[in-house]
Amino acid sequence: MKWKKYMAVFCLITGLAIMTVQSSPAIVYANELEDSIKQKQEEISKAQEERKKMQSGLSDVKKMVAELEQSKESLEEYVVQLDSNLAEIESKITELQGLISEKEQEIEETKKELEEAEQKAEEQYESMKTRIRMVYEKGETGYMELLLTSSSFGDFLNRAEYVERVAAYDREMLNEYEQNVEYVKTCQEALEEEEATLKEAKAGVEKEQQSLETLIGQKEQEITAYQGDISNKEQAIKEYEADIAAQDSTIAALEKAVKEEQARLAAMNAEEAAKNKVTYDGGMFTFPCPGYTRVSSEYGNRMHPTLGVQKFHNGVDLAAPSGTPILAAYDGKVAAAAYNSSMGNYVMIDHGDGLFTIYMHASKLYVSSGQTVTAGQQIAAVGSTGRSTGPHLHFSVRLNGSYVSPWNYLK
Ligand SMILES: [Zn+2]
Repeated sequence: MKWKKYMAVFCLITGLAIMTVQSSPAIVYANELEDSIKQKQEEISKAQEERKKMQSGLSDVKKMVAELEQSKESLEEYVVQLDSNLAEIESKITELQGLISEKEQEIEETKKELEEAEQKAEEQYESMKTRIRMVYEKGETGYMELLLTSSSFGDFLNRAEYVERVAAYDREMLNEYEQNVEYVKTCQEALEEEEATLKEAKAGVEKEQQSLETLIGQKEQEITAYQGDISNKEQAIKEYEADIAAQDSTIAALEKAVKEEQARLAAMNAEEAAKNKVTYDGGMFTFPCPGYTRVSSEYGNRMHPTLGVQKFHNGVDLAAPSGTPILAAYDGKVAAAAYNSSMGNYVMIDHGDGLFTIYMHASKLYVSSGQTVTAGQQIAAVGSTGRSTGPHLHFSVRLNGSYVSPWNYLK
């Protein structure tokens, strides 16, 4: 019996998952933009990591420079100390030189004194010799004559004493002068000894001066070396700072680009959302399977053919041969065009304002997700895919998340 065959053609669908809108070209571009933003954000993280390393390198070099500056400063203080020591030594040398000059002056004067003393001693010796010669030349007679021509004995005694005294005086004077020569000579020797001591002291201090000057020279060289090192480090600091500045501008540029891309993405999303928004104007549907109006299974509660219990059928089953065109019931956007083990090949169309139509068990699908369709446009062909026992179109209508009777929308 023919009706039995059609009775068997029923749909076992009891529920339907709500599909999400799949990719359209604008969405693909949005995905690219999202990837680009993500990539740039990763670049920013890396750049910031690098900047951190540079900053730490910079800190290290700055610390080194501070240490070098300190070493240099203490060395400079040391050189200042050495310079003051040197100044002391130089004043000591000057002082010693003054003393030496004084000594030389004294020696010079003593030499003159010695000459004079020697002169005097010589003169005394000469006059003494003259007097002795005179006595000798005139003989004892002369001497006697001097005595004998005395006017009186008293005069004689006086004259004899005088002669004696002259001789003694001569000897005494000669002694005295000779002693004086000796004394001056001794003085000169002492002065010369003192001068030698002073010169020795001066030589010692000069040696000290020389070694001090050598030390200062070395320290100044060390300071120069420190300064060179500091200059190099300061150059390194400049380079670090330039690198950091460059890094900062790289980061800033990336951040600016990310901001721009995010703004573009937001604008695009807004535009896409506006574009995707479909509205339902309340019109009646086009029959989805023209020429095949016979309902093999009605919408609503029905008795299960074998289990003998009431079951809800969420759409109408329209019996039609395989390959019969399935048309979009109304204008809208394809929300899903896919395969599911119970629905088989199916299409779900979003008509806006919470209204969707669903077409199941198709043998072929002619539309894809995101595509805009108009009422009466062929979207699929009748088949028996999924949980179905024969070729038919299961047609459902959902409003705000619940199934409603398709007859509300069909003429
Ligand atoms: Zn069905």
